[in-house]
Amino acid sequence: MKEFWSSRVRDMTPYTPGEQPRDRKFIKLNTNENPYPPAPEVVAAIREAAGETLRLYPDPECLALRRAVAQATGVGESQVFCGNGSDEVLSFAFQAFFDKAVPITFPDITYSFYEVYVKYLDLTARTIPLETDFSLPLERFLAEPRGGVVLANPNAPTGQALGAADLRRVVEAHPDQVVVVDEAYVDFGAESMAPWVGTYPNLLVVQTTSKSRSLAGLRVGWALGDENLIAALRCVRDSINSYTVDRLAQAGAAAALAAGDYFAQVCRQVAETREKTWTRLRDMGFDVAPSKANFLFVRHPAVPGPALFRGLRERGILVRRWDLPRIGDHLRISIGTEAEMDALCQALAELTAGK
Ligand SMILES: *Cc1c(COP(=O)(O)O)cnc(C)c1O
Repeated sequence: MKEFWSSRVRDMTPYTPGEQPRDRKFIKLNTNENPYPPAPEVVAAIREAAGETLRLYPDPECLALRRAVAQATGVGESQVFCGNGSDEVLSFAFQAFFDKAVPITFPDITYSFYEVYVKYLDLTARTIPLETDFSLPLERFLAEPRGGVVLANPNAPTGQALGAADLRRVVEAHPDQVVVVDEAYVDFGAESMAPWVGTYPNLLVVQTTSKSRSLAGLRVGWALGDENLIAALRCVRDSINSYTVDRLAQAGAAAALAAGDYFAQVCRQVAETREKTWTRLRDMGFDVAPSKANFLFVRHPAVPGPALFRGLRERGILVRRWDLPRIGDHLRISIGTEAEMDALCQALAELTAGK
């Protein structure tokens, strides 16, 4: 029953976000949220912003927040565009830079929202399969000079990252199209392309406060790019909704960006727990892909993915799994606290005992 639906919406298969349970307390390792709270300054800044001025619209250009992003990333504030989560920024980028006639290239296994944007906006995608070890076949991206490129770096849900030198080769191989590098997880150990924004007029780097800054609930992301690209993103935004980032979010995100020491400490802790968990799972017989993100992508050679997923859920642990070719036996496990990872390893040891 899709009466009254437009043809565009009628034919859509939208993105499915990870479960956010309401009824039961789970160890939640399914949506790559940060297990540690945001910096204390964030809550103080939001409290301060939560006053009489809420009757006023927010700054549509997010000037103070852009200044904070510029400070933290080393680009100029005119090279920053802020949005309501990086998902919104990515959706604007797909609208601003790509046309149906020019295909967009991305890996076959990557953030599934890219494919949703392609369908919704009636664009053309070309996927390149990851290698069997989930590394990226760089040469194939260099050999496809036509069209735009979208790469999550580190990639999701696999966790592997390319270095900036390799990504620069991709950007240079596509001089006539935009290359979007989605750096949602970059702060957990990969190399950012932010320093190259001033060099390449076709490079757009997208980042978020959701993962490394512990602010998935606030919905703030941004793009870094040449002023010409930023102008196109503003054109999309101002054709849809000029006030995408609310007052509380602008204040909270700016405070998070200023809390550099706290941020570094949280990222270090998550990376340390990831490395420990990586070794433990490998010692238990799991195949564990190398990861520079705040999650691990794992599979057990003898226990199918659905059984592991169900067994963990019964033990109160949520992880993410996709019913897709090549990765149906894999689980993507977010890095939680040390205690949460102890519980995870204990549960997985039970589920794989004797296998
Ligand atoms: C989580 C995630 C995002 C979205 O982040 P928000 O800023 O919360 O919208 C973007 N890209 C990838 C690859 C992600 O995993």
